[in-house]
Amino acid sequence: MALYAELHRHLGGSVVPRILWRYFQRNDPALAARFPDYENFEDFYTRPRESLEEYLELHTLVEGVQTPQTLPYFIYRLIRGAYIFENLAYLELRYTPFFRTDSQLSQTDRIDQMAEIVQIVGQACQIKDYPMVTSQILCMHSRLPYTVNRAILELAAQMPEYVCGIDLAGGDGAYGDRLDEFSELYQRARSLGLKTTGHLYETRQGCYADLLPYLQRIGHGIQIPLRYPELLPAIAARGQCLEVCPTTYFQTGTLEDYQDLRLIFERCFEAGVDVAICTDNAGLHNMRLPFEYENLLTQDILDFQELQACQKAAFRHAFAWPYPQPPMSLLTNLLQADHLTPIHDSSEPAPVLNVQPVS
Ligand SMILES: [Zn+2]
Repeated sequence: MALYAELHRHLGGSVVPRILWRYFQRNDPALAARFPDYENFEDFYTRPRESLEEYLELHTLVEGVQTPQTLPYFIYRLIRGAYIFENLAYLELRYTPFFRTDSQLSQTDRIDQMAEIVQIVGQACQIKDYPMVTSQILCMHSRLPYTVNRAILELAAQMPEYVCGIDLAGGDGAYGDRLDEFSELYQRARSLGLKTTGHLYETRQGCYADLLPYLQRIGHGIQIPLRYPELLPAIAARGQCLEVCPTTYFQTGTLEDYQDLRLIFERCFEAGVDVAICTDNAGLHNMRLPFEYENLLTQDILDFQELQACQKAAFRHAFAWPYPQPPMSLLTNLLQADHLTPIHDSSEPAPVLNVQPVS
């Protein structure tokens, strides 16, 4: 039995189309009128976009309905689906808390409201019937001013019971003239003991080597093996992990051919750089993590051994997984223990697996 870790999933992109459409029908007459028919909505919501910018605009549609009142509704359905359909044992959920605050308030009041949002998300993730380890990554955003981004990272440091790290999002092409500012923010984050990731080297416009040393993981980073493989030895030496989200690159037009993924993995493995496979925006892509795995196998990008190496790397680089081993080791030991799994002789009736709780 395998249980998986998801390190890169956006709250805004995690709502699957049917859940969102049903929410419109029940609660939002204007959006319900705009999308009266589910099939047309699914087509609109999940179709590939021309660019990363156009793709990110879709997040705004979801952010608009994810308010303090509705977040528990969406998160309950997210966790339930991740547990039942994806076998997740560990989930890092990322979002920009400022975009979930009341837009009618002043900037200062919205900053103050962010702590409430983090608490709502953290509590909504804890569902007795669908237990998994969850934590939040708060995203600074390239569209937000310094003051708000700074407040986001200070908040992350103040709420370790809910938050495990910070990220920089909003389209990596937009960091250009603010590199010093973001470097300073990341330095501050590290000085506070925060774990760090960042959307970087996702597109050709987002390649800023100056930011790399501050990151423990790199959000996407695919342009490094593709176009700057000379950087890989330093990435390996720093123990940085790439969060590769295969479907995203075809939804955003960053890659054209699925086979392009092969070079990314090959060069990373050769250089000793760990890769975690993630979904990024599972809802927008109508894609769940096990299907990302399966596609990589069936398209011959990875073999089973390489896939398992990536699955283990995800737990090793997880910011808040509290155990020394991934859960699959625990389960494998349990299921392969002599007294639990007698070797089955096909001429005899199948043994009944009687798993006793460990005392
Ligand atoms: Zn992302």
